[in-house]
Amino acid sequence: MRTQPLLLLTASVLFATPAIAVPSHEITRPQHQLSHLVSQTHAPHTSLWRSITDPIIRNIWRVSQDESLSSRPKEHGKKDSSAQLARHGHEIVLRFNITTSVESKALSEAADTLFLDVWEYTDDWVDIRLSKDIVPSLLGLLPASLQRAHTPLMQERELAQAIADTYPSPVSDNLAPTPERYHSFGPQLGSKQTEGNLFFADYQPLSVIQPWMRLMASLFTSHVRLINIGISYEGRDIPALKVGVHPTNNRAPTTRKTILVTGGVHAREWISTSTVNYIAYALITGYGKDGTITQLLEDFDWVFVPTSNPDGYVYSWETDRLWRKNRQQTHLRFCRGLDLDRSFGFEWDGVSTHTNPCSESFAGDDAFEGIEAKRLADWALNETENSNVEFVGFLDFHSYSQQILYPYSYSCDADPPSLENLQELAAGLAKSIRQSGGHYYRSAPACEGNVGVAEKDKGKVFPRFESGGGSALDWFYHELKVRFAYQIKLRDRGSYGFLLPREHIVPTGKEMLDAVIHFGKYVSTQYELNEHKEVEPAASSKAVLEDEMDSRAGFEAVIDEIIDEELDQTDETGTGWELRRRRR
Ligand SMILES: [Zn+2]
Repeated sequence: MRTQPLLLLTASVLFATPAIAVPSHEITRPQHQLSHLVSQTHAPHTSLWRSITDPIIRNIWRVSQDESLSSRPKEHGKKDSSAQLARHGHEIVLRFNITTSVESKALSEAADTLFLDVWEYTDDWVDIRLSKDIVPSLLGLLPASLQRAHTPLMQERELAQAIADTYPSPVSDNLAPTPERYHSFGPQLGSKQTEGNLFFADYQPLSVIQPWMRLMASLFTSHVRLINIGISYEGRDIPALKVGVHPTNNRAPTTRKTILVTGGVHAREWISTSTVNYIAYALITGYGKDGTITQLLEDFDWVFVPTSNPDGYVYSWETDRLWRKNRQQTHLRFCRGLDLDRSFGFEWDGVSTHTNPCSESFAGDDAFEGIEAKRLADWALNETENSNVEFVGFLDFHSYSQQILYPYSYSCDADPPSLENLQELAAGLAKSIRQSGGHYYRSAPACEGNVGVAEKDKGKVFPRFESGGGSALDWFYHELKVRFAYQIKLRDRGSYGFLLPREHIVPTGKEMLDAVIHFGKYVSTQYELNEHKEVEPAASSKAVLEDEMDSRAGFEAVIDEIIDEELDQTDETGTGWELRRRRR
C-alpha cells in the first residue's frame, strides 16, 4: 500500500518545499466571494482537515479502524496516575478568602516560610496547594481572621483523581469504535467538526504536538512555516508556527507587523498549550475560507509558540503533573527550576524577592538566567533587528482565574503609555469571550489582578501577594515596544484550577479564538492596515490543497514519515519513550 506512485508523489509534493520563508507571493484569494463565507462564530473550518489531524493522532496511538480495540494495552494515564497518587495523594488545595492587607501579608509570609505552592491569587482569594500535614503549621502562622476563612478546593483524593483525569484517557475508552467515531475519521465537508477532532479531544504531549506542528507546516506551505525559537536548557527545540501571507505590491510595508501568541510558560498550565494550538489550527485552516481570518493572515504574521517551556512541559507529563518552572539546575541541588515569568529583564527583582531556588517563583540569580525566557527574548530581538519584523501584539496564555491582564505587572504605580487603548481592547476581549461561551473574564492591570490585594472600601491597592517583576508581559510591552500586550489567564476560576478537564479544551479554544479575532481586527484598525487595500483575485488555495490531499492513504504515508522522523530524533536524545509507548 505504501509504495504506490501516488503516495510517493503526494509525499514529494508535501516535502519538496520544506521550511521556505513565509512566501511573498501574491495574495491567494479564493475564487468565491469571501463575504458569503464569513463565519459569525469563527469556528475552525475543520471539515477537510479533520482528515489530516485525525490520522496523525490515530497513527501515533497506533489505532486502526478495524483493529480489535480490546486487545490493546491501556497505556497513558493509568500508569502515571499511580506515580502521581504517590506524589500528590496526600495533598489538598485550600482557598483563602482575603479581605485585608494584613491577611494578605501574613498569608504571603507564611507561604514563603513553609515553601508552599501558591496556585493562583486574585484580589479576593488565594489558592494554596499543600500537604495535609502542613495545614496546622500554616494556620498557626495566620491571624485569627484567616483561621476559618478557607475552604478546600479539592479534597485529597480528588486532587490525585483530577491529576489522573487530565491525562489522555485509556485508548480503549478514548477511541471506542462507535459509529460516530468511525465517521469522524473521514473527511466531512460542511459539518461542525471541531468537537470531534481527536487532536483537541485530549491534552497532547510534546511528542505528539511537535509532529502535528510539522504536519501543519508540510500541508499548508502557502501560509505556514515551522520555526525554532531556540534550544531549551535540556536541549529541546522550542517550536513555533509562523502563519501569514505577504501581499506583494508597491505599497507593501517594509516591515512585517507580527503578533506573538505564547503558551506553556508555566508547565502545568496545559490548557494554555492546547489553546495556542487551537487558535493556530483555526487560523491555518480558516485561511481562504473565512474572510476575516484570511484578512488577518494578510495583515499580520502570527507566531504561535505552544510550549514556551518544553522541558517543564515534558516533565509535567512524565514525572510531576503539577510542575510549574523550567528544569534548570539551580545552586541548590535538590531544587530545580526557574520561574520563566519572573526571568525577563525588565524590572527584574529576583534579588529582593525570589532568592530561594525552592520557591515556585524563583527568578534566578540574574535577569534572563532562565534559559527559555532568554531564548524567546533573543529571538524576538533578532527578528526585530534583522528580519524587518515589528511586533505589534503579544498574547501570553496562562491559567487559571479567567483574567485579562495588561501592563504593568511589576508595579501599580507606573501607568503604561497606551493605558486607554489597553483598557479598551481588554474590555473588547472580555466581551468577545462572554458572547462566545458565556464565561466572564475580568480585565485588570497585571500588577493588581495578578499580585495585588485591593482594600475595596478605600479603593487602594495593598502590598503585593507576590512580586510581578521580570514578567514576559512587561518586557514585551516596554522593551520591545509591543503596543498591545496581554497575559490571559484561562479557565477556570478554581473548580479544577490547573487540572481543567479535557472537556474544556475545545470550548476554551473557541472563546479564545473569538477573542483573538477581535484582537486582530482591533490592532489592524489601530495601525490602519486595511485602508486603500486592493483586492486581488487569485486561485483558490483550498482547491490546490484538496488536490494535494486527494488520497487518504497519501496522508498516512506522510504522517508515518513524520512520525518516523520524530522517532529518529527523539531516540537520539532518549526522550521518545512516550511516542514509542504509544506506537506499540
Ligand atoms: Zn502561568
